[in-house]
Amino acid sequence: MKLIEPIQQYQSEIQAIRRDIHAHPELCYEEVRTADLVASQLQQWGIPVVRGLGKTGVLGILKNGDSPRAIGLRADMDALPLQETNTFAHASVHEGKMHACGHDGHTAMLLAAARYLSEHRHFNGTVYLIFQPAEEGGAGARAMIEDGLFRDYPMEAVFGLHNWPGLAAGQFGVRSGAMMASSNEFYVTVRGKGCHAAQPHRGTDPVMTAVQMVQSWQTIISRNASPHESAVLSVTQIHAGSATNIVPDDATICGTVRTYSNDMLDLIETRMRTIAEHTAAAFGASVDFRFKRNYPPLINHEAETAFAVGVMRELAGDAMVDADVEPTMGAEDFAFMLQHKPGCYVFLGNGDGSHRDAGHGLGPCNLHNPSYDFNDDLIPVGASYWVRLAETYLK
Ligand SMILES: [Zn+2]
Ligand SMILES: [Zn+2]
Repeated sequence: MKLIEPIQQYQSEIQAIRRDIHAHPELCYEEVRTADLVASQLQQWGIPVVRGLGKTGVLGILKNGDSPRAIGLRADMDALPLQETNTFAHASVHEGKMHACGHDGHTAMLLAAARYLSEHRHFNGTVYLIFQPAEEGGAGARAMIEDGLFRDYPMEAVFGLHNWPGLAAGQFGVRSGAMMASSNEFYVTVRGKGCHAAQPHRGTDPVMTAVQMVQSWQTIISRNASPHESAVLSVTQIHAGSATNIVPDDATICGTVRTYSNDMLDLIETRMRTIAEHTAAAFGASVDFRFKRNYPPLINHEAETAFAVGVMRELAGDAMVDADVEPTMGAEDFAFMLQHKPGCYVFLGNGDGSHRDAGHGLGPCNLHNPSYDFNDDLIPVGASYWVRLAETYLK
């Protein structure tokens, strides 16, 4: 691993910032303290800052030389609504809020890179340091784009990174094409006609209709979707009724759909609606069908991925780079940025959890687990990757 020496030297300072952010987690669009901290650090290192893109977003603008070329590096800043079970010194001081996805580490690694890039300036062009809010369900990336991120600050490509348990510490995992799924929710209400359960012929049973619908939807995955492409359709809730002797008026079905392509998503949504409407009609019921698309699939661009893989291999060596990592059905709002700009999103292994201080909770060191903690050993790895990516891109 060819880590950048000066970054290793000030690693403990960055680690202190990371742990301070961990102790003070803030949820979607409430990242006021975190954004203040990020902005004041950037300014302290001589980097001009723009505030307010996507409400609490922070953009650092680092120019050097005369080239009009520009690159965007992105970190997310928000935490999760979760009660932390760790009791070590930097555990969350905010009840019910926690950095369980390691975004505290993402922010710290990009800060470490910003400091080095500002102090050494071995590049020609502009590095945009994008600190976005609200990755956890709030579409903060989209909010920054809508507030003019790419319109007012033109950049050729954009790059993102996520710490990843399950990969060895410092191991890079990436792939060209679809790497994370689209995330979608559905809320379907079947409207029948309630009656005495002993006289079912006097009503229209929404429960039986709902069950038929749920069964039939699974045939979309097994009969309509190509066997070569993965997709998930999970019904996670069925709500109906209030007593054993009453057929209720209606039944509600909710769940999630995950796909790696928009075509597959179109197919599933269309078939779900058709099956819902026709099943309801077949049994004399009616249906309210609501399908909500949240994050699109995250599709890495081929050329930028090849470029990023080259930088990773140079930094970490071939053995530490898996350029064909297994994709995940998890979702990530960096996908919005990749719809507007070419770029690449990377997993950086967080290890097996042995880095955690004494006082961590009993759970595994998995994302969104109440005993999670970002691995501070990754600070120089992630920061060195950001620096080499920017320096190589803007040579
Ligand atoms: Zn998360
Ligand atoms: Zn995350």
